[in-house]
Amino acid sequence: MIVKPRVRGFICTTAHPTGCTAHVAAQFDVVGANGDLDTSVKKALVIGCSGGYGLASRIVLTEACSADTIGVSFEKPPSDAKTATAGWYNNVAFDELAAARGRFAKTLDGDAFSDEMKVRVIEEIREHFGQIDMLIYSLASPVRQHPRTGTLHRSVLKPLGEMLDMKSINVDTGEVNQVTLEPGTDEEVANTVAVMGGEDWEFWVDALRDVGALADGFRTLAFTYIGSDLTWPIYWDGTLGKAKEDLDRAASALRDRLQGIGGSARIVSLKSVVTQASVAIPVVPLYVSLLFRVMKQQGSYETLIEHVYRLFATQLNTGAEQRLDEGGRIRVDDLELKDAVQDEVKRLWPLVTSENIDEIADLEGFRNDFLRIFGFGFACVDYDADVDPTLGKDVETF
Ligand code: NAD
Repeated sequence: MIVKPRVRGFICTTAHPTGCTAHVAAQFDVVGANGDLDTSVKKALVIGCSGGYGLASRIVLTEACSADTIGVSFEKPPSDAKTATAGWYNNVAFDELAAARGRFAKTLDGDAFSDEMKVRVIEEIREHFGQIDMLIYSLASPVRQHPRTGTLHRSVLKPLGEMLDMKSINVDTGEVNQVTLEPGTDEEVANTVAVMGGEDWEFWVDALRDVGALADGFRTLAFTYIGSDLTWPIYWDGTLGKAKEDLDRAASALRDRLQGIGGSARIVSLKSVVTQASVAIPVVPLYVSLLFRVMKQQGSYETLIEHVYRLFATQLNTGAEQRLDEGGRIRVDDLELKDAVQDEVKRLWPLVTSENIDEIADLEGFRNDFLRIFGFGFACVDYDADVDPTLGKDVETF
């Protein structure tokens, strides 16, 4: 099969098998070049391991911390006629690269919100690890079937209080336009909190603690985005922000519950990057395109993997002095939120139009990052070559 990108709005319905492999390998290379870390994490669980921040965390844990990992994600395998999702290829590549380094890596595909997946993971931990010393919770999902009530909750990306009329961009055409969004209702807030809030993270930690699967000094992290006042109307002050507030609540509750084993639970506020989850948020692609341009010009731009490496190196390494905010969150979004960066993005925001976007924003960088998620745009890959979408795997049993 010859695989080309097929982009529909903010998703690409194809993924390139060897391109995704190249993407994962490139991230391993960046971490390898940055050097080993001493985090004393040796056995870790990563929920949401197949892309974005979860995959990058798993790579840093493997390559820099020499940790063995179990990962959980929800990806679609390939068929003879259709490519798999990018995350499926990423998992295959990750498992192979980890094994080549002598690290144990087991990846489970299925619904992390379900009780069944928690049972499966506990069995794997029992068999291979005994206990884990870190859990990274990096899920981003639009839906959650609640394991206790059976209700299917759908999250929404909406402002709150008032109608929002804001500048945005059509990522397909590059046209700068206005989006008008109705405010979310109380029910929509509750659903979004049910999907992206902290309850499932708590379910995971409680289930693992109850069976003695957490080592003394266990640490768990979940990720948030706070961002600047430019994105607050759609993010922090919107439905998703309410879910992230609930994640803060869960972190504090988990810190109390983990005291007995000297454990900790922290929210990490990360920078905005291009991932499958973030491109779906209105306004964010325009903000990110301007932000990338400004940060590249000012020399403070980091790729996703560099950002996660910095999180581990400066905030999680043994002896690191953590930079916590007043809410007890670890902040590594400091470079994005620097006055010099934000002042410039805010100066450009009212000026950007469909005509000048290529000069004053980094739409090309945004698009390149977007395509790379699906394995496109790597110089080492021959995109005209025939590739086996199954990568030679027995898809049924993999
Ligand atoms: P992503 O879309 O790249 O990855 C999401 C992961 O969740 C994938 O591995 C996917 O397979 C998995 N997943 C989704 N539903 C699942 C399910 N039901 N069961 C098992 N796995 C499932 O997302 P991302 O952007 O890396 O986001 C991860 C976290 O980081 C989120 O909490 C997000 O809010 C946060 N964050 C993202 C950004 C950003 O700009 N992307 C910035 C700051 C914080």
